Amino acid sequence: MVSLTSDPRGRIISIFVGAVLLPSIALSFLSFQSVPKVSESTALAMVRQADKALYWVERDLETKARAHALSAARAIGPEALVDGREEVVRKAMAKAGLPEDMFDTLRLEGASPSKVVAALSGAEDDLHVLREALRGFEAAPGPEDSVPLGVSDEHEAGVLRFSFACGYAHRTLLKEYFEKDFDNPDQSFVVRVTEPPDWETIYETAPTPDGHFETKREMHTPSFKGLKLQVRYKERSIKDVVHRLAMVKTALILLIDLMLGAGLYLVYANVKRELHLSRLKSDFVANVSHELKTPLALIRLFAETLELGRVPGEDKAKQYYRIINKESHRLTQLINNILDFSRIEAGRKEYRFARTDVARIIHDVLESYRFPIEQQGFALETDIADDLPPADVDKEAVSQALINLVNNAIKYSPAEKYLKVTARAEDGAVAVAVTDRGMGIAKADHKRIFEKFYRAENSLVHETKGSGLGLSLVQHIAEAHGGSVKVESAPGKGSTFTLLLPLARREEVKAPNLARVTST
Ligand code: ADP
Repeated sequence: MVSLTSDPRGRIISIFVGAVLLPSIALSFLSFQSVPKVSESTALAMVRQADKALYWVERDLETKARAHALSAARAIGPEALVDGREEVVRKAMAKAGLPEDMFDTLRLEGASPSKVVAALSGAEDDLHVLREALRGFEAAPGPEDSVPLGVSDEHEAGVLRFSFACGYAHRTLLKEYFEKDFDNPDQSFVVRVTEPPDWETIYETAPTPDGHFETKREMHTPSFKGLKLQVRYKERSIKDVVHRLAMVKTALILLIDLMLGAGLYLVYANVKRELHLSRLKSDFVANVSHELKTPLALIRLFAETLELGRVPGEDKAKQYYRIINKESHRLTQLINNILDFSRIEAGRKEYRFARTDVARIIHDVLESYRFPIEQQGFALETDIADDLPPADVDKEAVSQALINLVNNAIKYSPAEKYLKVTARAEDGAVAVAVTDRGMGIAKADHKRIFEKFYRAENSLVHETKGSGLGLSLVQHIAEAHGGSVKVESAPGKGSTFTLLLPLARREEVKAPNLARVTST
């Protein structure tokens, strides 16, 4: 039985390992295993190709020799051939302009003179055509080579037996073959021919300083018997090719593994982020429910007390009204934040920019917070520049951003109750700063507090309820104005949040999305 872990993160990891990681490891293991086999078969294929090239060199040389013999026979004419004596043939050779010592032997076998005449006269003289016609002819075994006299009707015309003089075959025929007839596309092969007994090079198609060849072949064709053919690839050695192939394959497999690893990491990071987000969302629901319940309970309690007339005095009644007022303020603020958040998430948040006196907004916000500020004993300091120029802002949105900052300053100042709000013009913007001397924020959290739902992992913070939306809305509002929000804070020392709002709004500024959530 497979036991599944109930922890979602554990489950995801099991899925990764089972469905992706293990098959990937198995696949890359198999691929690695196949590298030597692929290299071996490549090497084998290349050796075979080289062997084949040498086979065809020998066959071509054989055919060339036969075509030359036949052509010589035709050149000297039927009389000399029928006569057959060596001196007569030599003489006829010289007369035909051929070297006298071209052949060691050149004679006819099994032909009647009339047929020799018929076979030699009028036949094809072109060496190339002759060679094509002679392909596939198998000579009788022996030290001499032979060729059918009448190419098309050899049995009737008899056979020409010949043996080229060693010097002529090794120097002239061989050289002529490699220079004119050797079929070597792109010059990809280099062939060297050596001669026994010292294996001295008699011809090579290109120099090979290190003397390394891939394969060799000893020739058995009578005219070239005993010569050794060697071949190599011009641009590369088989060893190099195989080495490079193995390297490339290995690098490719490693690259694929790397990409696979990166892909796995991305999927894992995404899933982790989603899990984190869903945890934040459930925290958010719990926090918001609590935030809604507390003011509602207070409002109900004090409203009922007032309704039943159980208030000891006028002052107490006033205090109860204030509490009801304050709590309904808190409720409105919370609901505004949630509504705004949902509008932003749905891409429906709209801003109405108009030339506005920012100082006025600050005064209004502080006025509406006068009661909680005073009641909780906060020392309030304001420093708003008299010459603050008007700015293109959405009044509602900026008020809400300020309310969130002031609200936080009050919420997170359990000990020293101090609040300062300043505003001044700065580099074409209005800078509004809200300072407190509260619990402060650890450096590591400075960026993350602007993420949606994020609340600092701090026991003091968790005693204070919140939705984790306030600062992400402040940032959204600031950015929608083409501005920004900065924080300066240290734990135990308090915090200053500065809202920068450009005086003139640039048209291209688009309302950004809410700050993204990153995983812990
Ligand atoms: P909420 O206050 O509802 O939790 P916010 O987005 O307004 O959500 O704030 C995010 C977090 O930033 C808070 O949970 C708190 O940890 C921290 N924070 C914000 N303002 C202050 C402040 N003035 N002093 C200390 N911590 C703060």
